[in-house]
Amino acid sequence: MAEWFRRKTEKIKTFDKREIAEGMWLKCPQCQEVVYRNMLEENYFICTNCTHHFRINSDNYIQLLLDNNDYEEIAAKVQSADPLQFQATKKYTDQLQAAKEKTGNLDAVKTLKGEIHGIPVVLAIMDFSFIGGSMGSVVGEKISQAIDRAEKDHLPLVIITASGGARMQEGAYSLMQMAKISSKLAKYSDSGGLYITVLTDPTTGGTTASFAMLGDIILAEPNALIGFAGARVIKQTIGEDLPEGFQRAEFLLEKGFVDHIVNRHDLKKILADLFFFFNFGGNNHADKPDTDSTGGISSDNNPGLEI
Ligand SMILES: [Zn+2]
Repeated sequence: MAEWFRRKTEKIKTFDKREIAEGMWLKCPQCQEVVYRNMLEENYFICTNCTHHFRINSDNYIQLLLDNNDYEEIAAKVQSADPLQFQATKKYTDQLQAAKEKTGNLDAVKTLKGEIHGIPVVLAIMDFSFIGGSMGSVVGEKISQAIDRAEKDHLPLVIITASGGARMQEGAYSLMQMAKISSKLAKYSDSGGLYITVLTDPTTGGTTASFAMLGDIILAEPNALIGFAGARVIKQTIGEDLPEGFQRAEFLLEKGFVDHIVNRHDLKKILADLFFFFNFGGNNHADKPDTDSTGGISSDNNPGLEI
């Protein structure tokens, strides 16, 4: 490209057309810098210019956290049965199918057992790209089975949240998951379990109002949006302007809702340190194979699920 067509302004960059392939470049929503996708990927999807944490999916977190990318999935086959036969502009079943094809997952959470720096752990990772990380009966059931597994094997439990809230397509079934997961967590806690939550962008609605905020230790990624109702709704309700940084991780840290903000680079080490600190490192825990990965529950008792 001739030199006189190049932009001289610092914030605007010009690339030769041949350098730009589909999806090779991403624009950072925080600093507006155009970043090369491969470089971003090598940097755990943290902007190399301003450290903005891009949203990543459950497979990215598996690569980031688990030793050798090795894990055993818990309740892998549970999927929604559309109990209400819900239809709005689209049929719920069609929405589910599209999300499955887009993400390669059966629902908005992946539950598994793996190792972090050699310490066995049960991990649940929500995926915002699957219908906005919404919490329906499958998310509830999978997380519940993960908690049971952590309790049975005396392992620490980590849930990485990313959610727009309850899944409205499952109506009251979705709301029931808040109580279901919370009661499982109480039982796990009584058994001496260690529960750590990692709140990522965004963690909102029913997820925040239940298990996201129940961690013994609550970590958050920088600048993650964390809240219950949306800022616009709150502003309209109270009729006042909201303070700067409202519902961001740093604001919540200041107010005591979050214990620590963790750069993705440090997440694996910090989790391992916490396991050690709370005496979950170093023990040789029983490592029995999961012979019944569906947990053997019958769909009669779980009308929202197909197992
Ligand atoms: Zn940036």
